[in-house]
Amino acid sequence: MKYIIMDLEWNGSNTVDGHFNEIIEIGAVALDDSMAISGEFQSFVKPKITRKLRGRIRELTHISNDDLKSASGFAAVYNRLKEWIGSGDNCMLSWGNADIAVLYENLKHYDMLDDIYVIQNYCDAQLMCQKAAGISLAKQVGLSSFAEFADVDIGDDLLHRAINDSRLTAKCVAKMFKPEFFAEFVKKADKSFYDRMNFKSYCIQDLNDELIKPTEFMTKCPDCDRYMTRMTKYTCRNRKHHAAYRCKFCRKTYNVAHTFKVTYDGLEHKVTLHQTDPPIDPPVDQSLQDLADVSETPENEDTKETKDA
Ligand SMILES: [Zn+2]
Repeated sequence: MKYIIMDLEWNGSNTVDGHFNEIIEIGAVALDDSMAISGEFQSFVKPKITRKLRGRIRELTHISNDDLKSASGFAAVYNRLKEWIGSGDNCMLSWGNADIAVLYENLKHYDMLDDIYVIQNYCDAQLMCQKAAGISLAKQVGLSSFAEFADVDIGDDLLHRAINDSRLTAKCVAKMFKPEFFAEFVKKADKSFYDRMNFKSYCIQDLNDELIKPTEFMTKCPDCDRYMTRMTKYTCRNRKHHAAYRCKFCRKTYNVAHTFKVTYDGLEHKVTLHQTDPPIDPPVDQSLQDLADVSETPENEDTKETKDA
């Protein structure tokens, strides 16, 4: 397996079709099976959309408008990269998944998406290295911070340049590489990989959305595990649907928040409960127990009244 460590620099610009991250430099380092460097690729890319670099990008990358003037356009540079990658088993790695997402965005823009499949597998080097170093994956450790942490020589090269960041990432990957961690994070870079990457998860605002089954609103009491009765209409705050629920048996009231998040894998339903008022009702008549076990399901919100009285 050939390992291709890639890093990109891009210039964000606003177009009529929305924001576009236009690649201005591609850097890549190839590692062989023994993690030794077997080749390097570097090219500037002449931007088509924004001819002038944003000041912040010039400062961060030290790339000048002059550097880009004589460069080839994206399609020509990418075709050279493809040739350089060549055939045979490969896996692309980058520090975080932003670079592969921006590569996809640019290939899509130039109607070259089929050419992305020169990359056969993908592995997020950041996740693999953090896992190998025992750092929580909930943290996002930057490349230079990680290199310092892992005692990897950063050298004197300017960071935030595609080829230099590729080299530094390659050093981190080579130092931290363990087959079991690689196996955990490597993914086949097929269509569903990119579909998943590009899927924008969202929270459902409209409770009548057909993705939500009415039974999802049935909420059990955390103490007695019986279904509770909903007392109020839902109000939506911070993408959560809040309502008061009451357990007739425990005589406790809860603020219940339902979140319905649509992800690439389907609907994620989360429920959080916070007990609210101290009990105020008289003890429950045990003869009502059977009735209370039948939970409400949401129907017409307009006619929904407080039923627990
Ligand atoms: Zn209860």
